[in-house]
Amino acid sequence: MTETRDTVILGSGCAGLTAALYTARAGLKPLVLEGHEPGGQLSITTLVENFPGWPDGIQGPELIQNIKTQAARFGATYEHGHLNSVEVGAHPIKLHTSLGEMHTRTLIVASGASARWLGLPSEQALIGHGVSSCATCDGFFFRDKEIAVVGGGDSAMEEAIFLSRFATKVTVLHRREAFRASKIMLERAMAHPKIQLRTSTVVDEVLGVDEKEVKGLRLRDVKTGEQEDLPVSGMFLGIGHEPNTKAFVGKIDLDEDGYVKTTSNVFTTWKGEIVPGVFACGDVQDRRYRQAITAAGSGCMAALEVEKYLEERGH
Ligand code: NAP
Repeated sequence: MTETRDTVILGSGCAGLTAALYTARAGLKPLVLEGHEPGGQLSITTLVENFPGWPDGIQGPELIQNIKTQAARFGATYEHGHLNSVEVGAHPIKLHTSLGEMHTRTLIVASGASARWLGLPSEQALIGHGVSSCATCDGFFFRDKEIAVVGGGDSAMEEAIFLSRFATKVTVLHRREAFRASKIMLERAMAHPKIQLRTSTVVDEVLGVDEKEVKGLRLRDVKTGEQEDLPVSGMFLGIGHEPNTKAFVGKIDLDEDGYVKTTSNVFTTWKGEIVPGVFACGDVQDRRYRQAITAAGSGCMAALEVEKYLEERGH
């Protein structure tokens, strides 16, 4: 017989780990399925300056490890695995995972959102050969090289500033005239001597597929239609994220971009009706705030609702 757990948490970012901390302290022995990007977005970022409590900032991976250790102290356990499919209407809820079938009374969906790609065949062919979505992971390989960052939001600015430590020059390519990035991040990037910002520019092709390494980018000015080749050794994507909700299509309500639609903060629904025992928190259900602190906050809310749900049913 498969053991029935009180709660399983999908995802080990700020939301999932905060939910783990709270449910562990409530004695629910949560199991955290870490997913394909353990630690979530914070684990691939650098200095986090806006998480309250660290006046000098804290490195993202350190923050994640701290919450993980804190939750483990109260009995949270972690497994490297991912969800293939789920039966949310079953009692207990059935999870078909890479580690086998699991049964749980409650489920916290904190599977976050993953980096988005442009979708060009040449880009896909060169992932790991000069194309990357993680500046902190791969920046080191571009010492004394020229590189480009695609995007016009905070991620793109943050990546460009980080990459300027290694690269001789960083060109930020943004498809529109106006940037989406916050004023402070944009100003930092604009003031940086190694960073150049180009607007109204898209990437038509990544050059170097035959050589198996990025040699440059074929750019197009969206106003004039003119093409131009930019010689760079690397292209970093900073164009946002896709929610990790594939296993939940047709199971719980998702919005047009695949984010979980929650009601009363963390309750999931199917065709507008609450799905009992299934809660969602963090970036997988938040397309507006997407901050570490808001993810942690909603992780806490999901955990408190799990406690309440189990208590009401006598568990
Ligand atoms: P974002 O704000 O959604 O920005 C994505 C950018 O990529 C936009 O400029 C968008 O262009 C562009 N883009 C999207 N798809 C594209 C495509 N197919 N081709 C070319 N360009 C494309 O995402 P984000 O920068 O990852 O930020 C997400 C959230 O995290 C935000 O709330 C942000 O403030 C926060 N964040 C904060 C920090 C920080 O404070 N240190 C760091 C990183 C992220 P358009 O503008 O034309 O839509």
